[in-house]
Amino acid sequence: MPGWINVPLAEEVSRRFALPCRVENDANGAGLAEALLGAGRGHRSVFYATISTGIGTGIILDGKVYHGKNGAAGEGGHVSIDYRSEARCNCGSVGCIEALASGTSIARRAGRSAEELARAAAQGDPAALGLLDETAEMLGAWLASVISLLDPDIVVIGGGVSRIGDPLFDRLRRIVPRRTINPFASSTPIVSAALHQDAGIYGGAAVILSA
Ligand SMILES: [Zn+2]
Repeated sequence: MPGWINVPLAEEVSRRFALPCRVENDANGAGLAEALLGAGRGHRSVFYATISTGIGTGIILDGKVYHGKNGAAGEGGHVSIDYRSEARCNCGSVGCIEALASGTSIARRAGRSAEELARAAAQGDPAALGLLDETAEMLGAWLASVISLLDPDIVVIGGGVSRIGDPLFDRLRRIVPRRTINPFASSTPIVSAALHQDAGIYGGAAVILSA
């Protein structure tokens, strides 16, 4: 939030409402919820991605969000897969997966929403199939890098774009093992989120439960 620098928000809310309060990044919260209560339940290491207007991610290890030194870890949407890309990202870099394969950038490339693209692809529209293949290649290259780096137990994908369903997931499961050095990648489950539009609510609960 502009102008909010070093604001002790959790303390302030906690003081005013006399209740415990914690502050968490939305994708981290949703990822924690998927790890504890959703599609990642029972797994020790979960990489979560929500692919909607942007791409948010969270790294959950042993039931806790991995925050890094400054609390800024897990910004997987800003991992660039093309340093020469003409797609400039909101973060100032180029070729971030968010700038290439979020719902917003799919809509920009396809001239229609991800859902409409999926419908047209299902009907065999060659242009739609081409765009779906291209999107899956980009997401696949990205997820393969994530798997090379983290070797997670499971990858959970939510957000509007995940609603494309099998046509996207089948492609990712095919592409990812080809693009990583990890010989176990083909057995790393890449699954749809379970909590969907309620992930934020569950995320809030999960953040308090895991405290
Ligand atoms: Zn970026």
